[in-house]
Amino acid sequence: MIGIVAVSHSRSLATAAVGLAQEMLHGESVRIVVAAGLDEHTLGTDAVAVSEAIAHADSGDGVLVLMDLGSAVLSAELAIDLLESPHEVRLCAAPFVEGLIAAAVSAAGGADLDEAAIEAREALAGKQTHLGVPVAARPDAEGESAEESAVSGRFVVANTHGLHARPAARLVAEVRWLPASVYLRNLTTGTGRVSGKSLSRVAALGALCGHEICVEATGPGAADAVDRLLELAAQRFDETDDSTDSSAAGHHLPERGTGPYPASDGIGIGPVWRLGHAELVVTEAPSGPPELERALLDNAIDDVADDIERTRASAGAEADIFRAHLFLLEDDDLIDAVHRGILAGRSAAAAWNQVLESAAAELDRLTDEYQRARAADLRAVRDQVLAVLLGHGIDIVTRPGVLVSSDLTPAQAAGLDRDIVTGIVLAQGSPTSHSAILARSRGIPAVVGAGADILSVGEGTVIALDGGAGTVVVDPDPATLAEFTGLADAHRQRRRDAEANASEPAVTRDGLTVQVAANVGDVDTAAESVQGGADLAGLVRTEFLFLDRESAPSIDEQEQVYRAIAEQFAGRRIVLRTLDVGGDKPLPYVAQPEEANPFLGVRGIRLTLERRDLLRDQLTAIGRVAADHPVSVMFPMITQLDELLTARGVLDEVVAPEIALEVGIMVEVPATAAKTATFAEHVDFFSIGTNDLTQYALAAERGNDALNSLADPLDPGVLRLIAMVCEDAGSAHVAVCGEAAADPTAAAVLLGLGVDELSVSPPAIPLTKARVRELDLSQCRRIADEALRCADAEEVRALAAKTLE
Ligand code: PEP
Ligand code: MG
Repeated sequence: MIGIVAVSHSRSLATAAVGLAQEMLHGESVRIVVAAGLDEHTLGTDAVAVSEAIAHADSGDGVLVLMDLGSAVLSAELAIDLLESPHEVRLCAAPFVEGLIAAAVSAAGGADLDEAAIEAREALAGKQTHLGVPVAARPDAEGESAEESAVSGRFVVANTHGLHARPAARLVAEVRWLPASVYLRNLTTGTGRVSGKSLSRVAALGALCGHEICVEATGPGAADAVDRLLELAAQRFDETDDSTDSSAAGHHLPERGTGPYPASDGIGIGPVWRLGHAELVVTEAPSGPPELERALLDNAIDDVADDIERTRASAGAEADIFRAHLFLLEDDDLIDAVHRGILAGRSAAAAWNQVLESAAAELDRLTDEYQRARAADLRAVRDQVLAVLLGHGIDIVTRPGVLVSSDLTPAQAAGLDRDIVTGIVLAQGSPTSHSAILARSRGIPAVVGAGADILSVGEGTVIALDGGAGTVVVDPDPATLAEFTGLADAHRQRRRDAEANASEPAVTRDGLTVQVAANVGDVDTAAESVQGGADLAGLVRTEFLFLDRESAPSIDEQEQVYRAIAEQFAGRRIVLRTLDVGGDKPLPYVAQPEEANPFLGVRGIRLTLERRDLLRDQLTAIGRVAADHPVSVMFPMITQLDELLTARGVLDEVVAPEIALEVGIMVEVPATAAKTATFAEHVDFFSIGTNDLTQYALAAERGNDALNSLADPLDPGVLRLIAMVCEDAGSAHVAVCGEAAADPTAAAVLLGLGVDELSVSPPAIPLTKARVRELDLSQCRRIADEALRCADAEEVRALAAKTLE
């Protein structure tokens, strides 16, 4: 362990300062020797006493000397010359009291001479940050020794936004694996020298486009290291297009193709808020000894890193930004500082919070807006780790404004209070993901797949979003804000008009009555749907009754709930879909082997035919309700005629023939669409589940964000399958209950193909009816006809937009 010498004019001052430092060590012992005053009471410094103190303090790992002022520095310099045997000594230009404490704590934590010197010199940062004084970027080693054998080179930053998160992360990724020690200095601003292995420090260089940066390397492969970095700088740190930043004020996030995607119609304007931030109450006091706090910190960091890794794996082109977040979690500079805080007696949460906040505050002071926004990366990572450390689960305390998040679990989306959340913007997510479906069913405007940069937008920054168009504007200028406010007013007016007519039938301009139905998830949404003017319940997802419990609901319980839904609909038909779960949504009371591809596994009817008891009980309950109400039963994931006939056989066993029950199937499997004629004589209706049909037809998993632009239900290949169903359905009627039914463009194409029922989430009912009333069936048919010959979904959308203009 290194030793420390405290050189001061006053012995009592030095002794008290050392006492204070020892107090912070919590029993750890660091050799700190005082060389202060000429005697107990006389002020002055003595070079001989300092050199003896150095010899005494050195246990072989070197000595750090801290001095107060004036002659203390001169005496310390002289003392080095007076040393009788060789000692490794650093004279440290740190503030005396704060530096002594920081050096002692870092020495106790195993820091070497250079590391302890850096920590000591940095010791004012906390106070400076607190008092709002600019903090200079941290030099990483005591000048001379590192520079002696250094190889250096220079480059000019060519990246438009300077060394922001992505290029900085690329630089750090390179440096981390080099055997040499690499340091950077910003020659333009005079800041540096910082370690190239620390993302937070590299970001704090404030290196803007055009700034000249000096790279220095020492140790093995130093010359190669410099060459490699200069080469990387010439390649702009592999950044091909830095025009897609979302953090600049008034910046529009990119349009369709790569996201963002429209997910829930409506205009949202408000300040950004994030999950969990409000609940993160950090206490200073540790819950146990430093080892325990360190273990808690390590576990929390591991958990968050795993989480970020998972997000990153599906982040496609945006993966880089998550890599930067991972680097922050692995940043030794930050972690060491947190460890020292823990050693000094703080809780892991308090130490983590303080270190990350002061690093973020340092970035806040940079002049470049883009680079300042990187502080949000630090704060995002800070909050993620704090949330784990403080034991927060997924619960949300809803706050007013626009929720910005990486993604939402269905439980989180379901927990949002739509009266105060004005919008949702997700970095991840696809329009058919369950979080998007829930946003729609809650009537909250939402945009998904906005890209990771959205996570860098600071809390409280105003965001405007158009959930129908899929656009997001960060920090809109007054004109843009006025435009969005105008859109919001128009949207509200359109909704008011639609709601006023919601109980009227939806009839196209040329006379076709279209059933506008509701997708219902429970009794509450049934009530909401009826209020919203639903003509029927086109899809009751009965799985809500089976999930999140230890055993299956009894026949009586099922009957009671289905009856309650039927009563809400008061004479209007309800279509009860039999249990649609499987490997992707496992139930604790249904044993299922793990499957490599659960979406292609034992789900829907495949599962309930294996668990005939579940199917029998459910059909019995449905039969009882059908005795008193108009009820249809619908089987999900039907692929073979045999499955339908077997399911119908079970139905016939448990429901008396005199009970009027309509029977239909979901069309979610492409082969089923192609075999419509085979099924037609055995069903009363088909209901096309475009969510699954699209994922299976395009081989694009519905929850995989990287495939968002591929998985559009208006792909002509999907439309052909829908056309087959409509053409071969015979006397059976054809509904669509996937999310496409609520998309105004898709609705026109679907009606044109021959669909006569659109089943949508409850808040979408009035607007879907209003949309139908605007359409002309013959025009829809022409669009549909042409759409089948389009090359891709984008062309179909353009065609529909142009024709319907
Ligand atoms: C569908 O697949 O389109 C559908 C409506 O079913 P779910 O979204 O419940 O899988
Ligand atoms: Mg489905």
